[in-house]
Amino acid sequence: MAINKESYEDVNFCLKCGNKMKLLADQEGKMRPKCPNCNWTYYKNPIPASACVILNDKNEIVIIKRKFEPNAGGWALPSGYVEIDQTPAECAIDEMKEETGLDGEVIVQLGYDTEYSPIYEKVISFGFLMKIMGGELQAGDDAAEARYVRLNELPEIVFPSHVKFIEIVKALYSKKK
Ligand SMILES: [Zn+2]
Repeated sequence: MAINKESYEDVNFCLKCGNKMKLLADQEGKMRPKCPNCNWTYYKNPIPASACVILNDKNEIVIIKRKFEPNAGGWALPSGYVEIDQTPAECAIDEMKEETGLDGEVIVQLGYDTEYSPIYEKVISFGFLMKIMGGELQAGDDAAEARYVRLNELPEIVFPSHVKFIEIVKALYSKKK
C-alpha cells in the first residue's frame, strides 16, 4: 500500500503544539502530515512487538489466554509491545516474566513477521525461542490464564505471526529427531 492521503485520515492535530496538521510531500515526495506551526512531522511506522516461544523439556510450550484486546479471550504466545528503552530481546524476557511468572533467556531469534493490528494498523512482531531459567508458571496481570500445551495439541492461536514462530520451532525440533 502506498503512503497517501488515506494513510493519515486519523492524524489531525500536532502532538507537540496542538496545531492543525497539514499533509505535505517530504524530501522523497512521500506524503506526511506536517505541523505548519512547529514543523514537527508525523511518521506512521509499524509498532514493534516481541513474542516468546517458551519450550520445556517435555516438548510443551506456554500459551496464554489474552485478557485484553486485540483478540481478548483468544490463545496466543506471551507477547507485548517493545518499550522505548528496550531491545526486542529485552522485551521478550520482560513479557515472559510479566505474563507467565517464568524467568527466561533467549535461545535464538525466530525472525519477524508483520501483521494487521486493529489498534496500531500494523505491528512488526519479533519471535524468540526462550529457555526457562526459573520461576513457577502462573498467569500475570495481563493474561487470563497461562498453561503448558504439547506442540502437537495446540488450540487455535489468534495471531498469524505467533503461528509462524511456532511452526519455525516445530521445524527446528523435528530436524533434531
Ligand atoms: Zn506543532
